Amino acid sequence: MTYRKNDHVTVTIEDIGSDGEGIGRVEGFTLFVKDAVIGDTVEAKIVKSKKSYAYARLEKVIQPSPFRVEPKCPYHRQCGGCQLQALSYEKQLEFKERKIRGNLIRIGGFDAEYVDAYMEPILGMEEPFHYRNKAQYPVGCDRDGNIITGFYAGRTHNIIANTNCYLGVPENETILNTILEYMRTNHVSAYDETTGEGLVRHILIRTGFTSGEIMVCLVINKKMKEFLPNQGELLRKLEQIEGMTSVSVSINTEKTNVIMGKEVFTIWGSPTISDTIHVRDMRKEGCPLTGQELTFKISPLSFYQVNPLQTEKLYSTALEYAGLTGKETVWDLYCGIGTISLFLATAAKKVYGVEIVPQAIEDARENARRNHIENAEFFVGKAEEVLPEFYERMSLGEVSGEGGQQDSAGNDSSMLHPDVIVVDPPRKGCDSACLATILKMRPERIVYVSCDSATLARDLRVLCDGGYEIKRIRGVDMFAHSGHVECVIMMQYNANGVRMGKEKNLQG
Ligand code: SAH
Repeated sequence: MTYRKNDHVTVTIEDIGSDGEGIGRVEGFTLFVKDAVIGDTVEAKIVKSKKSYAYARLEKVIQPSPFRVEPKCPYHRQCGGCQLQALSYEKQLEFKERKIRGNLIRIGGFDAEYVDAYMEPILGMEEPFHYRNKAQYPVGCDRDGNIITGFYAGRTHNIIANTNCYLGVPENETILNTILEYMRTNHVSAYDETTGEGLVRHILIRTGFTSGEIMVCLVINKKMKEFLPNQGELLRKLEQIEGMTSVSVSINTEKTNVIMGKEVFTIWGSPTISDTIHVRDMRKEGCPLTGQELTFKISPLSFYQVNPLQTEKLYSTALEYAGLTGKETVWDLYCGIGTISLFLATAAKKVYGVEIVPQAIEDARENARRNHIENAEFFVGKAEEVLPEFYERMSLGEVSGEGGQQDSAGNDSSMLHPDVIVVDPPRKGCDSACLATILKMRPERIVYVSCDSATLARDLRVLCDGGYEIKRIRGVDMFAHSGHVECVIMMQYNANGVRMGKEKNLQG
């Protein structure tokens, strides 16, 4: 049985694909139907057909799933942001847990029984809307040449005009309308990706949920003396918005999908905003850390977790998994503005952070000062370069014996063999050179914070083959309504090499 393009089929959705799409089968033929919900019976139109499977477009829901809910956003089907809004939140969480489990088994080669034995229940949100503290809106023109802003439609760069996203904070709408009105009255052009002409490319808005401070950064395509025409008018309007703290421009003249340019200039107010994160004590007795609160300053180019409420749960879990008692030496790789590093530092002897973005490291050092933390040190560079270079250099001059001794450069040799290494890489996961060095450094525990369970599973296999075993696994829902899920894993070194699947590798 095969289907051809434009054929209509009736299918019952039995599963959810990795991007949130519905999956159904008709006589052994597999159909991927975007926007169809598990449990739905739908009519779908084939858009692309292969030998044994096809992609289809949802035409009509014939029998709605008991898990189907009324989506809040009228654009949820077009917009690339929310793939799961029509699925009940409970089922979204179930899907995300299964996604982590499935990737660990399929990609990581771990036995299902191990995964199930160590998996703890996913940490979901109480109120899964208006959770994002950051949004980046592309600016462009509609067919009639009117300036618009909103979100890209899924898998395209067509802008859906929408200034009221249910995931963001309500203030965003006022800010966007202020900027659009300023652009229209002052004839400020929007950037056109096809020609590379036009001025305003993106609008970044960030809000500190605890401080109430707002940052606006306009990404523009040209460097001029006064960055924006009639800039004073825009600033006068923006500064009236409650909470406005920082207005900047970022210059990006490249033909690229990267949103921010490398340079940022503050044109009003402070160059940064601040926010406070509160970490709960989720740990067992004997740990010095009780509920901790730290304040962070954030620049436009620095990474900062987008879901502040869930960040507290994520960091609390990571800290609990790190199992610190105050004596440990810890590396925090991919440390951003030092958020996790500084929480670790409150419960460890010494923390070393590594991060590729120089502005983020400047923020991290300033954040350490602000919070009176003196036992954290930060390095700028790629984790896969800083760590191996450091390891080579240090092990050449290593003083033999116990940790705590100093080499000629004054470095503590426990740096070389830390107790815990925390990693929190971007979606592509850790570079193999980074993983190889972690294995050489052989920490007692590794805490892996991941925003992509597929690359996580790949990296955990390398670490397991190097002598580590998974001890704890927990999903955290940082991105409600999207198909993405965050995950924290704790691994422990086991010299006996416990088998967790893929026996071939272990024997080899
Ligand atoms: N742990 C931080 C940041 C996590 S996001 C937090 O919770 O806020 C991942 C970070 O890794 C980003 O700050 C990004 O700039 C940084 N990064 C990306 N590639 C890197 C690399 N090769 N080496 C070091 N840092 C990198």
